[in-house]
Amino acid sequence: MSALAEHIAAVTLIDHHVHGCWLQSGDRRRFENGLNEANTEPLADFDTAFDTQLGVAVRTHCAPLLGLPAHADADEYWRRRCQYPEPELARLFLTAANVSDWLIDTGFASGVADLGEMAAVTGGRAHEVVRLESVAEEAMPAAGDYAAAFSRILVERTANAVATKSIMAYRGGFAGDLSEPTAREVAEAATRWWDSGEPRLTDRVLLRFGLHQALRLDKPLQFHVGFGDRDCDLRLANPLYLLDFFRAAGDTPIMLLHCYPYEREAGYLAQAFNNVYLDGGLAINYLGARSASFIGRLLEMAPFRKILYSSDGFGPPELHFLGAHLWRSGIHRVLQEFVDAGHWAEGDAIRVVDLIAHGNARRVYRL
Ligand SMILES: [Zn+2]
Repeated sequence: MSALAEHIAAVTLIDHHVHGCWLQSGDRRRFENGLNEANTEPLADFDTAFDTQLGVAVRTHCAPLLGLPAHADADEYWRRRCQYPEPELARLFLTAANVSDWLIDTGFASGVADLGEMAAVTGGRAHEVVRLESVAEEAMPAAGDYAAAFSRILVERTANAVATKSIMAYRGGFAGDLSEPTAREVAEAATRWWDSGEPRLTDRVLLRFGLHQALRLDKPLQFHVGFGDRDCDLRLANPLYLLDFFRAAGDTPIMLLHCYPYEREAGYLAQAFNNVYLDGGLAINYLGARSASFIGRLLEMAPFRKILYSSDGFGPPELHFLGAHLWRSGIHRVLQEFVDAGHWAEGDAIRVVDLIAHGNARRVYRL
């Protein structure tokens, strides 16, 4: 084993964007839907999530943790999985990820572990990432001045949080004006939203207001970028639409999450702006055996001090483990090739692994 391989196998990670894992057992349908990000409906009868890159990766890399041979078939995997209580699966998979710090998006958290439970189950540290749209939806029913209510709740909720997050990609996308609205525009938009009776925030003026309030907190702002479920219009989740916003964002670190299939655009943006960062969470899991080439593309344009690790695990604890496992094997394949071809010194490869695994996250989030 090379020194690089040994280092990657043992390096501790900071998972800078993740959600809680399940702690309650469920049926096979819930599990298979948990392995499909994009489809919001139950899978078709002829289909199975095990016949996807992610499903095969689960059978290959997760089966041994349950005492099965690698490549165990889907029924065998499911039968064995059912023999474990869900909290035991969570402990098994999450501790095997070797993550010291979990930065947890608490915006959509039904049916999954909360901050305290994640820390307890993993033995690691849990930090909160506050979702701006949740703050808005909390502020909306507060009587009177929406802007004041939003600001108050945002300051309270982020007092002990490490970052904020925007899911604007799911609420109309990035294309169009993202400048700060005036106080009057905000008040009018809040009245329109109130009158509509719609609990979900989709009003663009208020989404823009939230982003600019977040910039004033002096904490990193995460953006969902690229693929997600089919409610997210993939055409409008291209980070190039954020150019003007980056120009107005000052020094606040902006974290582009997931990025697939816009990882090359995101890499360019990370090079173009001092405060823009990216990761490949979520996508790495879904690309399975193809994730090494994706990790290679993340290492094209983006400066190495601008790339972070995340799993974006949500629900099945397999995802929190696989994100780490596939990242380790993918970055090893990519960097070992650089070293073997004589382009990189092994010491440089090890240094870059440390930056992406934890060094950059520790610096940006001041952990
Ligand atoms: Zn996420």
